[in-house]
Amino acid sequence: MRLIDGKAVAEKIQEQIKEKVAEMRLQSQRVPHLAAVLVGNDGASLTYVSNKVRACEKVGFRSTLIHLPEYITEAELLAQVQALNENPDIDGYIVQLPLPSHINAKKITYAISPDKDVDGFHPTNVGKLALGLPTFVPATPLGIIQLIEHYQISTEGKHCVVIGRSHIVGLPMSLLMSRNAYPGNCTVTLTHSRTANLAEETRRADILIAALGKPEFIKAEMVKEGAVVIDVGITRLPDASKKSGFVLKGDVAFEEVAPRCSYITPVPGGVGPMTIAALLKNTLLAAEKVV
Ligand code: NAP
Repeated sequence: MRLIDGKAVAEKIQEQIKEKVAEMRLQSQRVPHLAAVLVGNDGASLTYVSNKVRACEKVGFRSTLIHLPEYITEAELLAQVQALNENPDIDGYIVQLPLPSHINAKKITYAISPDKDVDGFHPTNVGKLALGLPTFVPATPLGIIQLIEHYQISTEGKHCVVIGRSHIVGLPMSLLMSRNAYPGNCTVTLTHSRTANLAEETRRADILIAALGKPEFIKAEMVKEGAVVIDVGITRLPDASKKSGFVLKGDVAFEEVAPRCSYITPVPGGVGPMTIAALLKNTLLAAEKVV
């Protein structure tokens, strides 16, 4: 079994981006500028957004955090989105999800200019991904692709089972693994909460990507011997023994599943750090106007 070290790979990618930004500065080019919009004070969202802003600073990007109150109206948030679309100083931006329930998240996502949609959630970018055109690939699936590439895991002709069909992880992941490219060329089964006999499906997986958000759901008997297991899940479980008051759990029961695997990602330190590195990569693409 080989542990996939997402932290180390993410650091390497961030180092490469940092070098690229230093080069841009040397040539007196403007450096990429990412904005992050956060509505309200949800603890996890605050952590995610601050990590993204800190990562920008580390690689030399400019970053702007726009922290709006919980009670902001949908119209006010749409006006903010419009202002970011029109601001030539911002290359790309994200609106951190989830949004408060009185705001229609779809409406906000669809209002983001596709050219600045570094999260890759806009229908134009999802459509481009489905057609295999250059686009902003959502950060978590892009991070997973980069991990597979880094460890030179073979994918062609393999059976890949993705658990979860969210627009953020499962659906784009299934598109990427089935495309005619490396990593890709898999036969993909996309599963969800209505899938009958899920364990039967997962046991056939050469590559299993779990993104359902149920801590330690995947047990050893659900995994084929020698499988590659990518654990996307992150759930905070209360733990009084920790300073933070919680512990992070993946969707995979790591201790019992790991011995069966050829490769496995840990939680934390697997997919999580890659998500931020992928967001930085997308921001660089936005600044270079490659997409
Ligand atoms: P989501 O929107 O809640 O989607 C969960 C998906 O899992 C849904 O498609 C759901 O099916 C499916 N599902 C739920 N229970 C199931 C079951 N018992 N059997 C089979 N499928 C089941 O979640 P998400 O945003 O994709 O996130 C999934 C997990 O990844 C969460 O733990 C999240 O925190 C984590 N995550 C991590 C990162 C990272 O950076 N590492 C990034 C994003 C998300 P239905 O469609 O039928 O409801």
